[in-house]
Amino acid sequence: MQRFDQRNVLITGAGSGIGRAAARRFAEEGARLVLVDRNQEGLEETAVNLPEGTQVTLRTVDVSDEQAVNALVEEVLAAHGTLHALVNNAGIAGRDYSTITDSDTETWQAILGVNLMGPMFFIRAVGKHMQAQGGGAIVNTASVAGIRSGAGGNAYSASKAAVINLTKTAACDLGQYNVRVNAVCPGLIETGMTKPVFDYARDNNKEQKLGSRCELRRYGRPEEIAAAMAFLASDDASYITGQALAVDGGNTAS
Ligand code: NAD
Repeated sequence: MQRFDQRNVLITGAGSGIGRAAARRFAEEGARLVLVDRNQEGLEETAVNLPEGTQVTLRTVDVSDEQAVNALVEEVLAAHGTLHALVNNAGIAGRDYSTITDSDTETWQAILGVNLMGPMFFIRAVGKHMQAQGGGAIVNTASVAGIRSGAGGNAYSASKAAVINLTKTAACDLGQYNVRVNAVCPGLIETGMTKPVFDYARDNNKEQKLGSRCELRRYGRPEEIAAAMAFLASDDASYITGQALAVDGGNTAS
């Protein structure tokens, strides 16, 4: 018996990295997928690498666009009838490592728009439906940067800390309707987002140093985050809500 047999799962940011690995993991466990990204090519590449026979719908949407998100959720519910799980994973990092006093408003607004408002728009639209149907599971992608500041710049860290709080707030509001809301907090994972960091380290013979930031002495793989997402979205986590699970090789343990 597969954990997501006959279940509809919507994943944002599925055109690359962690979202792509999540799409594969949920599909391997029997899910019917709705994959969302602003990058159509990335979505298509994800789709061709899914297990044969996976039922998948691709939608190109900017998650920071409230109207587009609402229209998408409405369309998906009309077409599929229900959504059992939502994975809010789309995100952007700052390329700007300015201090808080030098940071610019546009960068803050862009990062908060995608990383915080995006998940909020989806939780609001999908949460209403899950509340009415009497259950569902939501998984948000935060970051170790939301637990301790630093990685990705000040706006990124603040956005991810806010995602952890959004997770708890939504869990409190929706728990009585059997809707669970949790977050994963990845450590350093090799994806499109972190490519510049990995390229720089490799060019300068510093790759080993990248892994040294955590107790397991290595960086993580997208599949390791996808596994945690699938656990939190599944009935195996039926008594877990409002939690932020660090999947970081022990980065935040010390
Ligand atoms: P990635 O860049 O490989 O993938 C992110 C995906 O989100 C891309 O396909 C991108 O097109 C999509 N996206 C970005 N903005 C969007 C928008 N406005 N609307 C729709 N789609 C949009 O990066 P990743 O590392 O796989 O990131 C996935 C999530 O994991 C992000 O929330 C990121 O902050 C988080 N995260 C990553 C790491 C890491 O080390 N890679 C660590 C902690 C947290």
